[in-house]
Amino acid sequence: SVPAAILSALSASARGGVLFKGGAALETLAAVRGFAFDKTGTLTTGQAQVRRIAATGDEGAMLALLAGIEAQSEHPIAAAIRAEAIARGLVPVAVENVTAHPSEGLTADGGLWAGNRRLMARMGANPEAEGLAGFDEASETVVWLGQGARVLGAVSVADRPRASSAAGLAALRQSGVRTLAMMTGDRRPVAERIGAELGLRPEEIHADLLPDDKVALIAVMAGQGKVAFVGDGVNDAAALARADVGIAMGAAGSEVALQAAGVALMSDDMTRLAEAHRLARRTARIIR
Ligand code: ADP
Ligand code: MG
Repeated sequence: SVPAAILSALSASARGGVLFKGGAALETLAAVRGFAFDKTGTLTTGQAQVRRIAATGDEGAMLALLAGIEAQSEHPIAAAIRAEAIARGLVPVAVENVTAHPSEGLTADGGLWAGNRRLMARMGANPEAEGLAGFDEASETVVWLGQGARVLGAVSVADRPRASSAAGLAALRQSGVRTLAMMTGDRRPVAERIGAELGLRPEEIHADLLPDDKVALIAVMAGQGKVAFVGDGVNDAAALARADVGIAMGAAGSEVALQAAGVALMSDDMTRLAEAHRLARRTARIIR
């Protein structure tokens, strides 16, 4: 049977919005010495906004096409692009057969694609040749839109850290967590800007990652002790599953994330995570 101390810790955590799938997840969290975090939608709000737009032709037509492709994506970036199109009174273009390429972007019928520089390079497209050189000099996330080897335009989006992220990370550090890591598929300049705002050290920031790269980095961390991965689930199911404890952003995160995780954070207050970790450690000391 489950010890009373664990039952009481599980219900105390639940009142703070931290739901454990069972006593085992609580006991594993007590042993965790390294925390890895997804960036978009986890350390940041995931409520990105479009900042700048550039197009080789008509800007409205470009954005309507991009919004049509992004209509098929659950990524926070997609929501930002759709909202901008709607705010401008544009009607998203109907696009067929959209395929998601995790941590890169989307492709669709007609040779259409939307995503990062890695996806663009694979399509043989080059923004410098289209007069869009320099669009990604700012530390904002950039989504390029193209058709075959032609670049049609780009939008930049930016997202803010959650108000509680810096305090949550600091609290984990204070309670003796040895390793903190931000793991993101986003560009390094963006990762470094957000990381600096959160008080992370340069060596704690990992950018330009594919989902499998996150899994590999978690495996490296696991060589030093138990690891928790905290993610919102978009592209993060494998990382959540590889970690000793997967922690999903429950309210904003996806269904897939909740399934892959042992813990759900129903509150977006990151300091609750540090509190749950402390409570788990106290409880483990009592029952041993
Ligand atoms: P994070 O690890 O920060 O949550 P992701 O791994 O989900 O980021 O995505 C990494 C990058 O892949 C994004 O910054 C973006 O450039 C590109 N990307 C992912 N999904 C999309 C999408 N739906 N549309 C355009 N670009 C995308
Ligand atoms: Mg994410």
